[in-house]
This record gives sequence, structure tokens and C-alpha cells, in this order.
Amino acid sequence: MRDLAILGAEPAFPEALHVGRPNLGDRERFVQRVEDIFDRRWLTNNGPYVQGFERLVAERCGVRECIATCNGTIALELLIRGVGMEGEVIVPSYTFVATAHALQWQGIRPVFCDVDPATHTLDPARVEELITPNTTGIVGVHLWGNACDTTALEAVGRKHGIPVIFDASHAFGCRHQGRPIGGFGAGEVFSFHATKVLNCFEGGAILTDDQELAEKLRLMRNFGFESKDNVVYLGSNGKMSEVSAAMGLTSLESVDEFVGINRRNFELYREELRGLTGVRLLEPLHPEGFNYHYVVLEIEGAELSRDQMVQVLEAENVLARRYFFPGVHNMEPYRSLQPMAGLPLPQTARLSDIVMTLPTGTSVGKSEIEVIASIMRAALCRPEQVAEALAVPSGDA
Ligand SMILES: *Cc1c(COP(=O)(O)O)cnc(C)c1O
Repeated sequence: MRDLAILGAEPAFPEALHVGRPNLGDRERFVQRVEDIFDRRWLTNNGPYVQGFERLVAERCGVRECIATCNGTIALELLIRGVGMEGEVIVPSYTFVATAHALQWQGIRPVFCDVDPATHTLDPARVEELITPNTTGIVGVHLWGNACDTTALEAVGRKHGIPVIFDASHAFGCRHQGRPIGGFGAGEVFSFHATKVLNCFEGGAILTDDQELAEKLRLMRNFGFESKDNVVYLGSNGKMSEVSAAMGLTSLESVDEFVGINRRNFELYREELRGLTGVRLLEPLHPEGFNYHYVVLEIEGAELSRDQMVQVLEAENVLARRYFFPGVHNMEPYRSLQPMAGLPLPQTARLSDIVMTLPTGTSVGKSEIEVIASIMRAALCRPEQVAEALAVPSGDA
């Protein structure tokens, strides 16, 4: 049985192992593209790399239009405005805070809805209960890459005459109902932030089959300029730079390899964690169409709590993360603006207490996973000792 750092041993890893360490792709290919950008002196404003990146992303997703942006949050803001949402919009609280901020930033009230405990995505039955005369839309989140129940959500949308869009920030490379994510609802948004499976340093994209909407979004992305001196629309600056697109193209060339590594890691974790009471690995809805970018555990009914387990791992330099703690409705400004928002969210409250994610991606391999699992196993074998060590305030030990 291994010794634990929390009980005084040396940490298992001399350097921190992070959740969300970027996957880099081929450095040579990226540098070649940057040289090319310098030669051409076309740095931004819908350059050739952005156009090429948009074309490839659209093709890969089987969607007509891709509008690349400087990040996923701006992409959400543009799409929300582009489909005409205002007043109130239904959104999960169990998500990254940007999903709600993209609404609140433009004066739209996020109405927080509970999620399905099996998939961690919006529960369509709960959505229906929250519809009021002020509801103008639904924003679903394909959390961890698991698709929302798009059929049920779109049916609710149709019934009430409101658009449904999806925050697909986690879901590049995932499939649903036999086709790629990207083509569901009125539009979908990807994030290509450095920590996501496909990365542009910072970046995002809106995908839609609606060409009229795409036209509007392209104007909004560029201050509303239709031509040189002609502004025809309220716009912002959501443009993706050439260097980000160069990174995106480089990342696209390796994304299948990244997914392969993630999948191998996921299967190793499953093997190594098997039989640990109270430790449940979240399985994908569609194993063959999944990017395995997050290794998600639910720690429930175990001898140690999720928070204790995270602390045990942190002491070993494994920077496991609590997700999405404490739930968006418990963060400002929502906590002050909507103090009662947590009442109808029992699953959100439960999940934000029990969910954690483990490191994966190209910087994690078999030996790291074996060690991480052995740490968890060792801690669960001596829960009293671990709990006692954790109860000592730091500095007094
Ligand atoms: C990363 C993320 C975003 C924000 O994307 P950025 O590109 O970082 O702006 C939005 N929603 C979810 C669910 C995310 O994980």
C-alpha cells in the first residue's frame, strides 16, 4: 500500500499534473503557418487561415455555416443576440459560468434549470415548468461532450415558439443521433480555448445551417460593417485572428490523435478505478462518438467525500478539480440577483458536491493513471487517518 503525502510522505509527482493542460499538435506545422502570416502581413479581419479553418470545421460538422470568433463566450453572446433572445432564457446552472454570463451581459435574465443526473444536461421536463410569457429561448449545454436531449428540447422550443441553441464548448468531435454535434438547434457554439480538445489559444465558433442568421452573425462579429464605410447593424468585435486560426488548423490535424489518447486514458482509469466503493466514472452516452476530453468522477457513498479526495490528490500534486462548484446560481451576480434560484435545483446541488475531474490528455499516460488510482485506493483504505490529517488546520501540522 502506498504512503500518502497527506500523511507525511513525499508527493507522488514532483511537478503539478493539471486538468486541462493544453494539447499542442505539430509545432513545425504551426511555425510554418506563422511564417506565412508574417510574409503575407494579413494578421486578422477574415484572413485566409480563418476562412480555411471555418471551411474545415463546417465540413467536419456537416453544417453549412461556420463563423469563427475570438473566443467561445463572444460566440455565445453573438448567437444569443442573433436569434433574438431577450427577457428570460432558460439555461442550466450546472455549467461553466460563461454560459450564464453571455446572457446576463446583455441584460437577459438566466432562468436556472436543473439537469438530468444520468447525463448532467438540461432536463427537458424541468425546462417546460420554467417557461413564462417572458421566456424567449433555451440554451442547452452538451456538458462533458454528452449531448442534451435535443429532440425533447427542440420540441419544447417549437411548442412555445422560441429558439433553442446549444453551448457545445465541450463537444467538438462528439456525435449525437448519428451525426456530428454542431448541427443541432438554431445554432451551436464551440469554444477553442487552450484547455479544450481543439485549441486556437483563444477561439470559438458558431455553427448553423441558417444562412440568413449566418450573414447577420458575420456582420455582428465585425462591428456591423457591411462594406468599407457602411455599418448596417449593431456589432461587436468577435473576429478570430490569423494566428489563432493557424493554431486551430494545426490542432485540427491532430485532434483525432488527441481523442485516441483521451479514450485510452479513459479506459485505463476505468480499469484502475474498478471496484472502488462510492467512486463512479461517468460513462459517455455514445462511446464511439465521444472526445473523452474530461474524466468525470462522482464520489458518492464513499468513505471520503469529494472535497477530501480532491485534497488528498492535491497533496500529491495531482490538481483534480471540483466541477462546477458551487454552481453558477451560487456565484455573483446571480446569488444576489436571484437568491431563491437554488430551490428547484436538487440535482445541480448534488452534482456540484460530488463531481470531480481527473487529468487526461496528451501529457498523461498509463504510469500517471496507475499512480493516481493507487492514491485514491490507498486513501479509501484509511479514511479515518486521512480525515483526521485533513481536519488539522494547515500550518498546525
Ligand atoms: C470554455 C467554456 C465556455 C467559454 O469559452 P471561452 O472560449 O473560454 O470563452 C463556455 N461554456 C462552457 C461550457 C465552457 O466550458
